[in-house]
Order: sequence, then C-alpha cells, then structure tokens
Amino acid sequence: MQQAVVLPGTQKIRVSGGGIRRLLADLEYLSENERDQVRQAYEFGARAHHDQRRLSGEPYISHPVAVATILAQLRLDSETIIAALLHDVIEDTPTLRVNLEDHFGRQVAAIVDGVTKLTRLRKAGHSATQAASFRKMMLAMVDDIRVILVKLADRLHNMRTLEALDRERQRRIARETLEIYAPIANRLGIRTIRREMEDLGFRYAWPQRYRVINRHLNQRPRHPRAIMRRVSDRLRRALKSANLEGSISARAKSAYSIYTKMREKRLAFKEISDVFGLRIIVSDIDACYRCLGIAHQLFRPMPGRFKDYIAIPRVNGYQSLHTVLLGPEGVPLEFQIRTPEMHRVAESGIGAHWQYKAEDKSVLPAQFRTQEWLRRITEMQATAQEEEFYDHVKVDLFPDKVYVFTPKGMILRLPRGATCLDFAYAVHTDVGHRCVAARVDGQVTPLRSQLKNGQNVHILTSRHAHPNAGWLEYVATAKARSAILDYLKNTQTREAREVGAVLLNQALADRGSSLRKMGRGPLEEALTELGVTSRQELYEQIGLGERLATLAAAVVMNPGKKQSGDRRRKLTPVDIAGAEGMVVTYGKCCYPIPGDEVVGHASSGRGFVIHRNTCGNFRAERKRKDRWIPINWKRRIRLEFPAGLRIHIDHRPGVLAEVAARVAETGHNIAQVNMQDRPEESTELFLSVLVKDRDRLARVIRAIRTLPSVHRVQRV
Ligand code: MN
Repeated sequence: MQQAVVLPGTQKIRVSGGGIRRLLADLEYLSENERDQVRQAYEFGARAHHDQRRLSGEPYISHPVAVATILAQLRLDSETIIAALLHDVIEDTPTLRVNLEDHFGRQVAAIVDGVTKLTRLRKAGHSATQAASFRKMMLAMVDDIRVILVKLADRLHNMRTLEALDRERQRRIARETLEIYAPIANRLGIRTIRREMEDLGFRYAWPQRYRVINRHLNQRPRHPRAIMRRVSDRLRRALKSANLEGSISARAKSAYSIYTKMREKRLAFKEISDVFGLRIIVSDIDACYRCLGIAHQLFRPMPGRFKDYIAIPRVNGYQSLHTVLLGPEGVPLEFQIRTPEMHRVAESGIGAHWQYKAEDKSVLPAQFRTQEWLRRITEMQATAQEEEFYDHVKVDLFPDKVYVFTPKGMILRLPRGATCLDFAYAVHTDVGHRCVAARVDGQVTPLRSQLKNGQNVHILTSRHAHPNAGWLEYVATAKARSAILDYLKNTQTREAREVGAVLLNQALADRGSSLRKMGRGPLEEALTELGVTSRQELYEQIGLGERLATLAAAVVMNPGKKQSGDRRRKLTPVDIAGAEGMVVTYGKCCYPIPGDEVVGHASSGRGFVIHRNTCGNFRAERKRKDRWIPINWKRRIRLEFPAGLRIHIDHRPGVLAEVAARVAETGHNIAQVNMQDRPEESTELFLSVLVKDRDRLARVIRAIRTLPSVHRVQRV
C-alpha cells in the first residue's frame, strides 16, 4: 500500500505506509496521545532517512517500522517504540542527539544514543572469538535495558531480511546472532525473540544441517499431530471433569534446540525424545499441580524427567512445571504447565517490566526498573540456585567490571576503576614496566585515566621507562600493584648489591687487596663466619648500610681471627655518580651537589645519605666514625641536583619575578620558592635551583647578585 506523506518543509515523498498503519493498529494498548507521538516519530524518521533504501530496495524507514512492530508485539512502552522508530537516525543521518531530545525528550534520546554506541562497537570490526566477553561488554555499556530490547529487535528484523545479502555475509551475521544476540535474549528471558533468532540463525549459518533436521521432523512414521490431538482431547476431558479451566496448545521443539542437544549429548536424531509437546495454561499455581497429577494419571511419566521450575525458577525468571509422558504408540511428549502470568514472563522476560500498563503513571528510572526485575527474580531464587543466579544475571546487568579492546581486538576484563596502567600490566608485566602513555580510541591519554566500557586501548612503551612508586596510587588491580612493588623491591636490592660490592672493594683496597685479587675461594669461606649464605647477600647488607664494609673486609682478609677495628687508617673514598637511585640519597639538610666535599652516612636499611662535610648533621655525629664513609663524585655527572639559596632582598612587588627571570637567563630551573613575608624594608627569599655542579651554581649566584634590589646571596 502506498501513501503520500507531506512532511513540513520538504516536498512530497512516497513511502510505503502500510507498515506504520499496521504498527499503529498493534499499538491500540497505548493512549491516543502516545500514539500521536509515535506518528510524529515516524514522520521524523521518514524525513531523516528519505534518501536511503534497504538492500532489498524498500525505503529505509520500513526497517525501523518493522523493529518497532516487533517491540509493539511485546507490548512495550511508548518511549521504547519511539526510540525503535528512530534507532538509526544518529548513526545514518545528520540528526544529533540534541535534536531528538528537543522533539522526543531525554529518555528517547538516551535510548537511541545507546543503540548507536552498540552499533559502532560492532562496526569497529572486532572478531567475535570471545562471544561471552562481547555479550558482557554490550550489557555493561547500557544504563537502560530498553537499549538492548531495541537492539535485539533491530537484529531480529535484519535476520528476517537476510535474503538480500550475499552468502558470506549471511553466514557471518547468522553466526554472530547465534553466538551473541540469541544468548542475550535468553539471559533476559525474552523467549519469542530468542527462538526466532535461533531458527533463522541456524538456517543461514548451517543450511545443510538445518535441512536434514527438518526433513527428519517431517518424516516421522506417523504424523505426530494426530497423536497430539488425541492426547489433548483426553486431557481436556479430564480437566473438565476435575473442574479445571485451562487452554492447551501443541508445540514442536525447534530444529535448533534439537541440533544443540544432538551435538552436546552426542546423540543421533532418533535418540532425541520429547520432540513434541503440549503447553497447558491454567489459572493459578494450585491448578498447575493438580493438572500435573491428572496428566500423570492419564499417561505414564518417564522417570527422572519431571522438573519443578515453579518452586525453583530458572536463572532468567522462567517458571513452569515440566514433565515427559509416554503418549500413544510410545511417543514421548513434553508437558509444560504454567499460569498466564508465568507465560507472560516466559515469553517476554525482562521486557515484561517495560510493558505498558495504563494505571502505571509512576516514572521509574530505567536502572530502577531493571533492578526491580532482578529483585523479583532474586526473591524467587532465594534458595537453591542463588549462586548461579549471581554468576549469570546480576553480574551481567550491573557489572563491577569494565570491558575494553586490545589493539588485536581481544577483550580484556578489568575491575571498575581500572586505569590504563592496569591495562598495560594485564597485557604483560613487561608492557607495564615500560609503558609511558596510552592511546585510547586514538587519543593519547595519561596512564592514570580510568577506562570505560568498549574503549580501544593501545599502550605506548619506551625502552627507558620504568615503574615508580607514584604508580601505586592509581592502579586498581592486584596484578599491577604486585608487579610494581616487585620491581621497586628488586631495583632497591640490585642497587644495594652494586653499591655494597663497591664499598667492600674499597675497604679491601684500604688493606692492600681487592675482590678480584682475593678470588672467590677465600671470600666464600668468610661467608659463614659473617653469617650470610651468599656474596650477593653480603653486598646487599653492606649496600643497605646494615653491615659495615670495613669490618666485613677485615673478616674476609683474615678469616677466623678476632677482629679489632683499626680506626686510624685513612679510608679510600668511594666514587658515586648520583644515579644510584634508591640506595644513595642526598641530605635534605645541606643539599650536596657535585663539586662539594661530601661524606656518606650509613643508615641501617636505607642505604647511604650523602651530606656536605660542612653540614651540621655531620659535625654533630662525626664521632661515630664507623658510620661515615668518604665519598668522591665521579667525573661527568649528567644529573641535576637541587641547591638551596637564601637571598636578602628589598621587600617590594615584583622582586620575585626579577629573580626568577635572572635564574632562567642562566639556563637553570627553580624547583621551589619560599618568601618570608615580613613588614620590613628587606626580606628573605629561599630558592631551590636545579644545577649540575658547584661551578654552575656559582654562575647562578653571580647573576642574582647583579640585581640592584638584592643585598646578599648565600647557599643554605
Ligand atoms: Mn537498524
């Protein structure tokens, strides 16, 4: 049927109007006002898609109308229907989310936006090898379960019109439907959609097997319909004489479920029983059990085949009594007995919570309705299958996980709050240790930023990068945390061993020997006496300042002799390069820099702290000679060290900027500034400047002195 639709501001466009009229007829359960909005959504969609066609040649709008019709048959609310009519406009036309908000409100716009995100996820072309993870990612991405309902209906209509595509795409889309969409429909309990998806999916994914099973179904020796009619007649009479009202319908198991059963249980077609069955709907739960009793009196039940899903519902909320009876001529028949309410839930599952109810004018937030559904199922589950329930349904719908893609399209599951750094460590510990930044959906992003569902994450690494203790503040996974801690601990140990070996070597040199001259033998012998099990352990203890190199050297030189400390011996200085990291640190009291005369203080467990020999701390403690080690700076140190300066300066606005500019002119950076705010003419300014050595510091000091407002500059 063709109908001319006049759209405001455009010329006449011919679209097939039969679809919308049928849809509006299916929507008689909505109010007149809501149906009017649906009509407007249709016109909006038709205008947006007016220049597009389906592969079948039909105008594009026929597709959204068909999607809305599928949802209308589930009696879903008007927002869902409107969103279905508009579900492709953001992706396929210039329409923006705000346009939809203006015309149809926030809820509808949010649903369409959600559907668009799922569509883009698919278009990114990721392999469906991890179907289970992909399903979870999809569910995790939506706040409103109606997004999934529209997406399922969209996919179902695409399956119905698969004929227009080539063989290869048919197969790919069909398999994806079986692996991803039908299981989601199942999890949410929407049987009508799941069953049709499975049937179409099976037909296109495995055409040969589909034909074989259907041939078997039709070639049964005696046509089972006749048998089923006889059975239902007998049952109907028995129910009547027991004063039970009920409706009975015949049903055949689907080709796909027969196929799955054959494959899972490795059975031949002949070995599959209960291919046919009856569904009986009676008024209440009490009647269900009475009906079961009557059926068991009429026909012999097969042992072990009775299941009470009323007392213990399935994880998606499905309830029914199931039993398999031997019908006439030994044909097994499966009986399903349930109430009308159970039937409604069995057919539309979570959709039942979005069904239109005239009296329900309360606007429940989307999340809340889904939670209501879960709460009801949880109550039903209260006992037996609770654990399984949480494993499957709840975790899927309210996940505490995020799902993201690796560059190869694999899906990684991380706890909510995980950052790019967690991702890097989840890929591989080495990737974590060497990462410098991440590229998230193409944008360079800091390592500390938190991940969102569906993002593509690529980690940028550098050979020179390594973990630091600050990383511990923004990792959420145990794996990343322990890898970083391990690294830091190992680094400290390695550095301690290196420094320890140097110190021991210097101490031996003071006694006219060295590690090399000693050789392994004598050193190994001394280990027991020193109470350590390996040379590495000895170096580590020395490096961490837990043991003194001079005493250890004495034992190594003269094992077995009682040692007397020779305090007067002049010690050879140890060379440091400034890059020893965690084992060698610099006094915060005197800020030593290369060129200063320095000494090292062994502080147990923390390695060595370098002080200037003018430092007050050294003077106060110099008596404890065994704790101090002479230190030399190595030549050519590349690092910069902070040096403290105290500057007496005029107290007037702008002086700080003048000083800062002078320092910058010399090519140095200021690490810290502190100014004493005293109401006097002159004040004190503390600067910490990063320099390589004494010469350069002297240059900085000279530059500052030339400022007229500066009276005096001193090193702290
Ligand atoms: Mn679509």
